[in-house]
Amino acid sequence: MLKKFLYTLWISVFALLLFFSVKNGSFATFVNSMENRTFDIRQSLIVNSGVRQHNKDIVIVAIDDASYEYILDNYGEWPLRRDVYAKMVDYIQADKPKSIAFDFMFVKSMKSSAASDNALINSFKKYNNLFTAMNLDDQPEDLRVPPVLPDKLSVQVSNPEEFNVMEYSNCRVILQGIIDATYNIGMINVSRSDDGVLRKMPVFLKYQDKFYPQLGYIVAYHYLDSEPIIAVDDDKNGEGVILNWYGHAGTFENIPMYKLLKAIEGKEKFDYNFENKIVYFGATAASLFDIKTVPVDKVFPGVEVQATYVNNLIDGSFIVKCPLWLNVLFGLLLGILTVGFVLRISSMPVALGLSCTVYGAYVILTHYAMRFYNMWVGIVIPLTIAILAFIAVVIVKYLIKSRDFDQQYKLATTDGLTELYNHRYFQEQMQNQVSHSARYDVPLSLILVDIDFFKKFNDTYGHQSGDAVLRQVAFILKKNVRATDIVCRYGGEEMSIILPNTKYEEAVSIANKLCSLVASKSCKLSNGKESNVTISLGVASFGEEDGQTPATIIESADKRLYNAKENGRNRVN
Ligand code: GH3
Ligand code: MG
Ligand code: MG
Repeated sequence: MLKKFLYTLWISVFALLLFFSVKNGSFATFVNSMENRTFDIRQSLIVNSGVRQHNKDIVIVAIDDASYEYILDNYGEWPLRRDVYAKMVDYIQADKPKSIAFDFMFVKSMKSSAASDNALINSFKKYNNLFTAMNLDDQPEDLRVPPVLPDKLSVQVSNPEEFNVMEYSNCRVILQGIIDATYNIGMINVSRSDDGVLRKMPVFLKYQDKFYPQLGYIVAYHYLDSEPIIAVDDDKNGEGVILNWYGHAGTFENIPMYKLLKAIEGKEKFDYNFENKIVYFGATAASLFDIKTVPVDKVFPGVEVQATYVNNLIDGSFIVKCPLWLNVLFGLLLGILTVGFVLRISSMPVALGLSCTVYGAYVILTHYAMRFYNMWVGIVIPLTIAILAFIAVVIVKYLIKSRDFDQQYKLATTDGLTELYNHRYFQEQMQNQVSHSARYDVPLSLILVDIDFFKKFNDTYGHQSGDAVLRQVAFILKKNVRATDIVCRYGGEEMSIILPNTKYEEAVSIANKLCSLVASKSCKLSNGKESNVTISLGVASFGEEDGQTPATIIESADKRLYNAKENGRNRVN
């Protein structure tokens, strides 16, 4: 029963793994997506616990739904005229912010008027803490000839393979005037996992054999006044570094853009101090489509992803993934512990409980590793290894146990000298067979065998030879009856044969056959010589004459054996 259950479990686990590996293309993809889920859960728990503090210097001027509506109502167009951005920049600059960054593109094709564009271009000329964005893509060349970007926008990357830099074939350019006016242009490409969740951000991107930085990277560089230190992890699955989240959407201070617009229009005072802030302009309105799914939120504005990225760069708090070999090692350690529990603890529920406790403790440790050390220690691979080890060791333990049981059972039911079944087994089987015959009305016979003049034989040839003869007689009996017949050592030099489904007449003829076989075969003695023995046999059957209980049948067979002895031995009665 247990065996069946375990085999079923074993096969189900493999079937399930096989199913997923086939369904998702490969086992690795399945493990990866499961692991990503555990990452999302850990990040959500950390975020919900409120232990992670974001940088209060980062604020967002959000084009939220209210601001979008305000712009349509008051300016009558979308996108907003670029001179209005220039005015907002001037307004903020008066407070001496650390930097202002636009998380959107002033694309060439969407220009309003030359005068309005020029106003913004002049802002870029005037302020060297003003940043804006561009985007690389893979549009076909017949749609757009890939533009050549000026050298000043690129960076030297000495170890691109460490960052797993993605290469793009095309670029969507912004107003030429802005490109000419500033160095402060970064890319805003993002990286998504297979499941569409944004967990990583590129640091550098490759285009036309040169490397271009992320917008956030140059903003952080400017804030720190030095190159941000990036812990690059071992995980090459998708480009970039793994973001470490601070909270749900709205964690960074959001200032609705309409408030700034009202202020520059002189409609309403807006006393907010932008001093030393990193001010990120970006869309948060759902209708503006810059919405991502991230580990801590299904709906998360792109500009807050940028803010998180800059904050991670400033803190040096990107998540670093544990290398695969270390995860496998953890799995092996858990597996060894599991195997120890199962082998040393006799109670399976206790071993299972202890193993589960260790697994739970491990999961909690991985949580703290992420919370305090920004380490992504694997859960899926180590636990899979540990659980497989558990199942394997349980099966092995059970098999060993069942083999021990088989051995003990054999020991308890067989006679050591003749290797026939012993007396206890004989009695048990008589009981069973008699019940069976009584219930199904099938015949049953019993033959009792006794070696003739065996005392004398022993006296003449010695006990050793007597034993050898006993074994040989036992062998002859066993060899010459059906496999379903049960040959036992009744006691001393007496043997018994239970013949299920055998009528009295058949049993008598079998007994006769055995009688002449034993008589005809000479037995090897311990001294190397040979000698003959004969046997006498008494037959009885289940039925009216010999009774319908083991005791009466045995008694009848015994009486007939006695008669056979009386009538001259070496015969059947
Ligand atoms: P009978 O023809 O009347 O059966 O004469 P017998 O001498 O065989 O008489 P009985 O069956 O009463 O004798 C039993 C003898 O079998 C006694 C003992 O010496 C011998 N014997 C019983 N068990 C063993 C055994 O395990 N090994 C040996 N070598 N001899 C045994
Ligand atoms: Mg005897
Ligand atoms: Mg005898």
